[in-house]
Amino acid sequence: MTLYQVQPCVVCGGETIRGLTELEYEFGRVHIVVHDVPVATCQRCGEQFIPGEFGVWLGSEVARLAAQIASTLESDELLEATRVETNVSRRWLEASGTQLAWATT
Ligand SMILES: [Zn+2]
Repeated sequence: MTLYQVQPCVVCGGETIRGLTELEYEFGRVHIVVHDVPVATCQRCGEQFIPGEFGVWLGSEVARLAAQIASTLESDELLEATRVETNVSRRWLEASGTQLAWATT
C-alpha cells in the first residue's frame, strides 16, 4: 500500500500537506499513544486524514500490542493500568508493506 496525499481536503477543499500526528487508543486498562503517524493535514481547516488502508493496519497492530499488554496485566493483579508510548518507525512501516510515497497529482 502507498500513502497518498488527500487533495483537496474533503471538508473544506483546501490543500493538504504531508505531516505527522499522534493517535491515542484505549483498550480497557491499556492506553497506547502512537507518535509519528503519517498524515495529510489540511492547510486551511487543519483536518487530518490518515490513508484508510494504513489506518486499518495500524489499528490492528495496536490492538495486537494491547492484547499482549492486557494479558500481562491480567496475570499480575498488582499491576496498575498501563500507558505505552510508541512511534511509527521505519521498520514498522516496512512490516506493513507501506511506502512513504505521496501522489504528486
Ligand atoms: Zn480543510
